Amino acid sequence: MTWLDLAPGEPFGIHNLPYCSFASRGMRAVGVRIGDQVLNLSGAEEATLIDAGGALAGSSTVDRFLVAGRPTWSRVREQIIALLTDEHRRPAAQRLLSPFADDETGLQMPFAVADYVDFYSSEHHASNVGQIFRPGQQPLTPNWKHLPIGYHGRAGTVVVSGTDVIRPAGQRMPADAPAPVFGPSTRLDIEAEVGFVIGTGSRPGTAVSTDDFRDHVFGVVLLNDWSARDIQAWEYQPLGPFLGKSFATSISPWVVPLDALEAARVPAPAQDPPVVGYLTETDRYSYDLTLEVRWNGTVVSRPPFRTLYWSPAQQLAHMTINGARLRPGDLFASGTVSGPIRSQTGSFLELTWGGTEPFTLEDGSSRTFLLDGDTVTITGTAPGPNGSVLGLGEVTGTVRAAP
Ligand code: MN
Repeated sequence: MTWLDLAPGEPFGIHNLPYCSFASRGMRAVGVRIGDQVLNLSGAEEATLIDAGGALAGSSTVDRFLVAGRPTWSRVREQIIALLTDEHRRPAAQRLLSPFADDETGLQMPFAVADYVDFYSSEHHASNVGQIFRPGQQPLTPNWKHLPIGYHGRAGTVVVSGTDVIRPAGQRMPADAPAPVFGPSTRLDIEAEVGFVIGTGSRPGTAVSTDDFRDHVFGVVLLNDWSARDIQAWEYQPLGPFLGKSFATSISPWVVPLDALEAARVPAPAQDPPVVGYLTETDRYSYDLTLEVRWNGTVVSRPPFRTLYWSPAQQLAHMTINGARLRPGDLFASGTVSGPIRSQTGSFLELTWGGTEPFTLEDGSSRTFLLDGDTVTITGTAPGPNGSVLGLGEVTGTVRAAP
């Protein structure tokens, strides 16, 4: 039991402890969230209350902590729990606690993104997009059930929750038009996803086995892969998404450590046909994460992560099977999380079926794609130990007009 006074059912209790980079009184530090406060971990290591081998003292992001590796991550987590539960250490720990603003404005990018990769692992999403983008054809491409399809995104435009998203301009090809037109996107969309943060890297030429997932992955973030569907539809064949996605990708300020998600492990869906050797798993599992998408405050969907066809371990094995190395700070995202029904879709493309079925928000206004001034917030929860529920925080962003 923690000595902190937490409400029953607190989603940021002692079993969660997500990491962040926060600003307080003119300094930046690494912290973990407990209730509505942040415990300054950089200060805790400087005061020798915890020992991360120097990876947290003087740090403003988790970059050096990511390099430290699984044994250090787990040991420091136990030290933090001890600090917040041992009554004798309460006076020392209390000096390192500070409230953070509800709007999370004091929170920064928790780590420097090295490479960013995004997958396409939901069969429901891929099938929906296939029907909308390529009507009359097979919705799933012939490769879809043999490998987790992905593309390389743009690490430099991954931004922290709360950052405004400027409507991108680009080329689009209107139906029946003689030539493409240029201008601000008219079909700006979201993709509700979960991102996985790599800590321990790998050597060039070496593939990472599905069994080694936990050795390399530090934790998870919520992720919004903002997507300009009109730009994407015109540019994506044959090399995949490019400028329709690279303008902005938002992540939550909290990195929930994998150690917090042990109780959320669930079997991943069965796969048919069987997958090739490097994609097989001795212990095939996913995580029971439920996302919630709000459009200007109206809940429009609750995408279930556990329904994804390709597991996170398969995604990691696939992205390294050619020998491409991992670096600390690499970020790979699950792809849009969509369940089998309309109220579980992770994109507005699906929610409004290509813009043909407008959605009515609680204020009575109607939407197909995003308008300037619209705000999208994705939150998430996971089951914790003993029937508790863990919060994954939120990733939010507001659309601003193209300049
Ligand atoms: Mn995506």
